[in-house]
Amino acid sequence: MNENRLLVMDDDADVGAFFGQVGEDLGFDVRVIADPDKFSSVVMEFSPTVILLDLQMPGKDGIELLRELASLDRNPKVLIASGLDSRVLTTAQELGTSMGVEVAGAFCKPIALDELEVLLVRLKSQTKIITVNHLRQAIEQGQLVVHYLPKATLKSPGRWIIEGAEALVRWEHPEYGLLYPKEFIGLAEESGLIVEVTDFVFRASMEQARVWFAKGLYMELGVNLSAQFLGDLGFPDRLLTLVRENNLDPSMLTLELTETAAMNDPSVALDILARLRVKNINVCLDDFGTGASSLTHLYRMPFSEVKLDNQFTNDMRLRADARALVEGLIYLAHKLKMRACAEGVEDEGTLEMLEAMNCDKVQGHLIGAAVRAKDLEAIVERWNTRPINQSRTAAAR
Ligand code: C2E
Ligand code: MG
Ligand code: MG
Repeated sequence: MNENRLLVMDDDADVGAFFGQVGEDLGFDVRVIADPDKFSSVVMEFSPTVILLDLQMPGKDGIELLRELASLDRNPKVLIASGLDSRVLTTAQELGTSMGVEVAGAFCKPIALDELEVLLVRLKSQTKIITVNHLRQAIEQGQLVVHYLPKATLKSPGRWIIEGAEALVRWEHPEYGLLYPKEFIGLAEESGLIVEVTDFVFRASMEQARVWFAKGLYMELGVNLSAQFLGDLGFPDRLLTLVRENNLDPSMLTLELTETAAMNDPSVALDILARLRVKNINVCLDDFGTGASSLTHLYRMPFSEVKLDNQFTNDMRLRADARALVEGLIYLAHKLKMRACAEGVEDEGTLEMLEAMNCDKVQGHLIGAAVRAKDLEAIVERWNTRPINQSRTAAAR
């Protein structure tokens, strides 16, 4: 349930709809009612965190509703609105407060959009307000950045070498600081802006790979792909064009799909994945084991790699069943001619166990966290020159 719920009580349907729209744009769940007789029942059922209350209505007026609200077992913040002069508003505010209602503000109608936004934003100050428009502006104004999560490949016993990185998008928000994908990817997917976001990630990371390559640093790229792209038959060709424009080899690119993303429309997805593979672009099943796991899809879809979710890797040191599961999944991946990558490797012991299980690739804070491009170079330098781990598989066996 959305933690911010706005109830708009206004007898003028147009004004109510306008207030409601502003609330929605700010991330509230919104209910708009024009009939004061429904006020109490909607308050009880919807449990608003903020109520925008018009004082002047035919039948019951706003003051009566404040009294009703005081008797209910709900404690929303109330914004009072009125077309009357500000003295009436002040009086209503004092009355409401004396009844025990939390009156958070009052304003004269009509109110300018930005003034109303400021009032509502203040009432959800604990929460970050991220709208589609903000995200669109962020893309246009270059506020998105890519951070790189290093990925190491097992080259020979005890020798894991970073030769790739996963591109992870972040938003350098002018007000909230660095925002992580979980705070805006959902919104991007719902609004369709994910196309622009992903396009940015592709372009930025490929350009970066080209810069690294020119410096003698070979970095394969992993890019996360939302479900939408698996319904877009033109995507494989467009992507290949972009790869060529950047003078990159398609085989250095891996697209990461989560199980839900991969499962939406199996026949179209299959077509797209097969064509990506034909073009030598790798596809990886991400977070394997967390979604609605389906071995059928693992069997049917032409993945080149399976990425085992953090939760299994995290538990390996403590739980024999987690170790059994990881070992079994790596074995299964290999039998299906796929590489296995373990996510979330945070300590040497886990790395050694994974090596003993023939895991091909690893990611996680032991190797390095997701960082800016310039900081990745130092991680690669440090990790790739560390002494070979002689104890390697012994500890795991
Ligand atoms: P993911 O693809 O599974 O990415 C791995 C996440 O685990 C990243 O979080 C990474 O920072 C984190 N991680 C890596 N190593 C460790 C570790 O050792 N311990 C722990 N505790 N965490 C670790 P992040 O960057 O917040 O990304 C979260 C998810 O957002 C990603 O999960 C991916 O599904 C999605 N995402 C990121 N960038 C994009 C993008 O450009 N497009 C799309 N569609 N999704 C993206
Ligand atoms: Mg991923
Ligand atoms: Mg993952």
